[in-house]
Amino acid sequence: SKNLKVAIVGSGLIGQNWAMIFAGAGYQPCLFDVDEGQLSRALEGTRQTLSKYEKEGQLRGKGTASEQADRIKGTNSLQECLDGAFYVQECVPENLDLKKKVFGEMDSLATDDMILASSSSCLCASSFAADLKHKQNTLVAHPVNPPYFLPLVEIVPAEFTCPEVAKKTRSLMEEIGQSPITLKYECRGFALNRIQYACINECWNMYKTGLLSAEDIDKICTDGLGLRYAIIGPLETMHLNANGIKDYCERYAQGAVEVQKETFHPLPVMYDTETAEKIEQELQSTLPLEKLQDRRVWRDGMLAGLAKYKNDS
Ligand code: NAD
Repeated sequence: SKNLKVAIVGSGLIGQNWAMIFAGAGYQPCLFDVDEGQLSRALEGTRQTLSKYEKEGQLRGKGTASEQADRIKGTNSLQECLDGAFYVQECVPENLDLKKKVFGEMDSLATDDMILASSSSCLCASSFAADLKHKQNTLVAHPVNPPYFLPLVEIVPAEFTCPEVAKKTRSLMEEIGQSPITLKYECRGFALNRIQYACINECWNMYKTGLLSAEDIDKICTDGLGLRYAIIGPLETMHLNANGIKDYCERYAQGAVEVQKETFHPLPVMYDTETAEKIEQELQSTLPLEKLQDRRVWRDGMLAGLAKYKNDS
């Protein structure tokens, strides 16, 4: 029979999201954490969250919230967590020495066909898995927060990762309802953050040069680019906004280059404290730090609605 057990190592924010996603897809996720208090909070937390999503019409996958929650198990033994699993999703804090230690422990317990994937946001598998016996089975599968509603997963194989492992991970992600992309080689920042940084850089420059308020800069995305990019990406936008992308380049590339020559600033001016303080002051006037948590909950609800709209359309 098909092996449905998935091991999730680390039961914080991201581990709990993976557990809920796998449970919804019919798998049996088993959470492990070194902190036993955290482990029980995670089991209780995923049960409550699934039930909340069910009430709000946001529950993913098959079965009721309580059936899905029943599939999620927990253990305080890494060995028990990995035992019988075909896939491991590591979700411990982003720290190189810790990732090395945890991957070393998993390596000694892993079977030869077990996939060992890391949720790491910026560390590449070559930095923490190069010395392992099962290194050909390791790679990064980087989710985006909150993974339950933002389906993108960046699959980043190391040079030593077996191509079949990257392929299987990609199919698994598709099967559980995530949206994988596969990088052809390791690169710092992977892909999403490179685009995000380019965007933040221009926002920063526009604020620093006094062109717009922070509120108006954010509106460019929330009421303009972001809405567009939720439906079609930047490259397809070029394709659609002219008669194909080659035509777009003929018509607009020269202008784009001139704009960039005139307005783009060299990198070292980025993220200076003076500008950060000014933006913080403006943002805090409408969104003080004590209201950030409420706003995160609101954001997740909005993203849930958007995800549902996209899935239903
Ligand atoms: P978190 O702090 O919420 O959870 C980490 C969990 O790991 C904690 O419960 C902790 O007790 C546990 N832990 C610590 N040492 C452990 C060990 N040796 N074995 C097992 N468990 C251990 O962190 P998070 O936000 O869930 O992030 C986990 C990973 O996911 C990181 O690599 C992070 O970069 C990545 N990630 C985070 C986000 C995000 O927005 N939070 C998004 C994408 C990827």
